[in-house]
Amino acid sequence: MKTYRIAAIPGDGIGSEVVAAGIEVLNALALRDGNFGFKFDHFDWGGAYYKTHGRMMPENGRDQIRDHDAILFGSAGHPDIPDHITLWGLRLAICQPFDQYANVRPTRVLPGITSPLRHVESKELDWVIVRENSEGEYAGVGGRAHQGSPLEVATDVAMFTRAGVERIMRFAFKLARSRPRKLLTVVTKSNAQRHAMVMWDEIAREIAKEFPDVTWDKMLVDAMTMRMVIKPETIDTIVATNLHADILSDLAAALAGSLGIAPTGNINPERTFPSMFEPIHGSAFDIMGKGIANPIGTFWSAVMMLEHLGEQAGADRLMTAIERVTADKRFHTPDLGGSARTTDVTKAVVDAIQGRND
Ligand code: ATP
Repeated sequence: MKTYRIAAIPGDGIGSEVVAAGIEVLNALALRDGNFGFKFDHFDWGGAYYKTHGRMMPENGRDQIRDHDAILFGSAGHPDIPDHITLWGLRLAICQPFDQYANVRPTRVLPGITSPLRHVESKELDWVIVRENSEGEYAGVGGRAHQGSPLEVATDVAMFTRAGVERIMRFAFKLARSRPRKLLTVVTKSNAQRHAMVMWDEIAREIAKEFPDVTWDKMLVDAMTMRMVIKPETIDTIVATNLHADILSDLAAALAGSLGIAPTGNINPERTFPSMFEPIHGSAFDIMGKGIANPIGTFWSAVMMLEHLGEQAGADRLMTAIERVTADKRFHTPDLGGSARTTDVTKAVVDAIQGRND
């Protein structure tokens, strides 16, 4: 039996509630399957850790998780700590050195969930957004000078490298090719940003030649928001820069019914380092400790983790269990208009895995 070593980093707020639920579901899945198991190592990093240690994770934190098969992450943040410290001190401090350059975000309207778009069903809104996760607008290049004086200046430089753009384009074309419609939309803003975005478009055209069986088009990011709302059925796989995809994927999550459902994988395709899986949502301090956080985003992230580990049958079983549960409105948490609790949803998914509510 294969045992996967998973680094669990629940973080803060509802992160710890949904990761605990995710671990329960993954253990139930392993028990049901019998061919694989998990050994979870728990790391208490995040905003609370920062309060006592003055940093989000230990200095040798990455060394502690480098050899794990994957990372299951919750959310990091603290109402008293600026967001850029929590983000750069933990999530990005893992993503960037571990070269998790492809951030993959599937979006679908799951059974039983109503999209705010009228009449839209699963088959019309079934997308995967590929977000460039290592450079671009979030490269961290820039600076501030003359702080506090009227002459204060601040810059954030969007940095795009040919190698970085080539590898994300290749990843996105490959992913589009693996999906039935073989359709890719390259999001850009090359009308206004006339250097990096023009190179982005040129490289897309070059890489497209390697994938003659993939149909692709190019779309300005502003027009893309309209297309996502007005013609969702014309979209399949999307590739966009760090900033553009960050924004588009929140829109996508909302169109699919709730931020509480959306999953993501920070993938290191070369597998030199572990990849990291997490729900898209943040720490949600407004509902922390109330037991009503929707754990579906974490469960779906666990599906992505299983796929990455090569456990396709387990991934399919978990996704089927999730869909069976979302189809039943008794298991909808308040963000979906229901009154179920995190534990109700978790138990229902465990029951579905065990075939108890067939
Ligand atoms: P952060 O700064 O960490 O991103 P945030 O509070 O700004 O946190 P989110 O945590 O993503 O952003 O939450 C946005 C809204 O969505 C909140 O009202 C929150 O309660 C709700 N929400 C997010 N995730 C969930 C979830 N899993 N279940 C239920 N509601 C959720």
